[in-house]
Amino acid sequence: MRGHLSHRYLIALGSNRRHVRHGGARRIITAALAAIGALDARVLAVSPTMTSRPLGPSQRDYANAAAVIETALRPRELLRELQRIELDFGRRRRGRRWSARTLDLDIVLWDGGVFSDDALAIPHPHFRERDFVLGPAAAIAGRWRDPVTGLSLAHLHARLTKP
Ligand code: ATP
Ligand code: CA
Ligand code: CA
Repeated sequence: MRGHLSHRYLIALGSNRRHVRHGGARRIITAALAAIGALDARVLAVSPTMTSRPLGPSQRDYANAAAVIETALRPRELLRELQRIELDFGRRRRGRRWSARTLDLDIVLWDGGVFSDDALAIPHPHFRERDFVLGPAAAIAGRWRDPVTGLSLAHLHARLTKP
């Protein structure tokens, strides 16, 4: 029994690159959720997948989703597992952020409040400005509060999408 040792995490999933094996970005998200489910973790909730077509000549589609999981892994252990999954999906590091990638897995929140070390910051530093994170996240965990602002995900999402 390790229930009292487990943590809840909110994970953001994103894909913006076609993948030879899984097809479009939406299918990459589905396969990534299965990979997360295969960790020593329980997937408690999965959002609908949001897709968007990029403007311009790119043939890539974008897909984003969020999941709430429960696991005994500590934040750095979970990050390592998520990065291993990213690599399994053929993610390439070209020394450049924002480059097209098959799969991006970010830790948005956890139930331990604020966590920060040299490789990991929770809450994720930019999630409050990103509709593609807050949309899916608010859909499954709208009442979860950001420990920094004290605002719920529903509130943060509404604030962002207000004209
Ligand atoms: P952004 O973080 O702005 O969404 P990104 O996801 O494209 O950008 P990456 O290249 O995937 O950035 O990650 C860079 C580094 O960010 C990772 O190697 C990791 O150590 C660090 N990092 C810090 N906080 C987090 C977090 N909450 N979730 C995932 N990675 C994080
Ligand atoms: Ca990211
Ligand atoms: Ca990332």
